[in-house]
Amino acid sequence: MRINPDRLWSRLMEMATIGATPSGGCNRQALSDADMAGRRLLKQWAEAAGCKVRVDAIGNLFAHRAGSDESLAVVMTGSHLDTQPTGGKFDGVYGVLAGLEVIESLNDHALQTHHPIELCVWCNEEGSRFSMAMMGSAVWSGRFALAEALKLTDRAGISVRGELQRAGIHAQGMGERQAVKACFEAHIEQGPVLEQQATTIGVVTGVQHMSRHEIEVEGQEAHAGPTPMDMRRDPIRVLADLLPALYAAAERHGSSARFTVGFIETLPGSPNTVPGKLRFTVDIRHPDAEQYASLKAQAHALVRDALARHKLKGGMRCFWEAPGVIFDAGCVDAVRSAAAKLGFSAMEMVSGAGHDSCNVSDVAPTAMIFVPCAGGLSHNEAESAAPADLAAGANVLLHAMLSMAAPLS
Ligand SMILES: [Zn+2]
Repeated sequence: MRINPDRLWSRLMEMATIGATPSGGCNRQALSDADMAGRRLLKQWAEAAGCKVRVDAIGNLFAHRAGSDESLAVVMTGSHLDTQPTGGKFDGVYGVLAGLEVIESLNDHALQTHHPIELCVWCNEEGSRFSMAMMGSAVWSGRFALAEALKLTDRAGISVRGELQRAGIHAQGMGERQAVKACFEAHIEQGPVLEQQATTIGVVTGVQHMSRHEIEVEGQEAHAGPTPMDMRRDPIRVLADLLPALYAAAERHGSSARFTVGFIETLPGSPNTVPGKLRFTVDIRHPDAEQYASLKAQAHALVRDALARHKLKGGMRCFWEAPGVIFDAGCVDAVRSAAAKLGFSAMEMVSGAGHDSCNVSDVAPTAMIFVPCAGGLSHNEAESAAPADLAAGANVLLHAMLSMAAPLS
């Protein structure tokens, strides 16, 4: 049994017309008119496929395909339809439409399952308009309070509550969370590894530990001409020392370590003034808990040492941290087995990015399926993926879900 690759592709292309950008991408930021239009189209498709659709208090949409025993826990799949302001056609959307394609394929083959099947569209995964990534799944899983999420506002001061009401979604509390037997999320890799390894399926075993830190160094503003080098308090000296030391520390933690300096600012930022202040950020990631903790500790120690050596005040503080996730062994095995059964090349990998599945895995057995995307490019209008790879991932999703949903033969 296989999914219909043409239907999957044509729906991806049809969804991409909603909020289409001139450069070939999509702008469907969470709860915008375009996002709501995308969700309406999905609802239409799901209802035409015989699903019952409901929306919860934080705007997560669930399409339910009945099982032969409705008292059983659902086998779930899904992702998100919202995009970055200059997002692509596949990030999130693929996981939703691959899930819909699983349901359509079960219908094509008149195949009933004991367990009900549910397709979910998580609200505001991207966090670009309302700055809380993975908002809907965080509220659904109980990681984040509904009341707090409803209060979030965009840059224009419009609240999540207001936008949900405008869309006819009236928040009345989350109600009881449905029991979930297993949850699978298909997603483009958003990195270059599968493509480079010429491998079709990423069997995602977890998500790496990650944190973001800000380092501040206090110097003293001084004229770039008259002030002798040895009489300056120059915070850039600290930076010049730190960068090679920090990159070397990252290297010592193996090829899985990720270390990124994404932001550097000097104040006042004038070419002929020794800066009075330096701020920069580091993003640290590692799939292994011990290695992650060690790299973080070394970064802190290096910052402390460099400040002391240059006799400057400052420090490093963590402003965001997300613990790593290890996906459910049974769900991971279902993905691995499905890929093997279908004869696709596959490799185990740890996700470098956060996904709704991180929240879902708090309360239900979960795993993810990655497929390659061209050049590893994502959060980019040029995001692209091969129809054959997308079909392969949807077929793996279908068979992983079937292995959990107990089909009636
Ligand atoms: Zn995504």
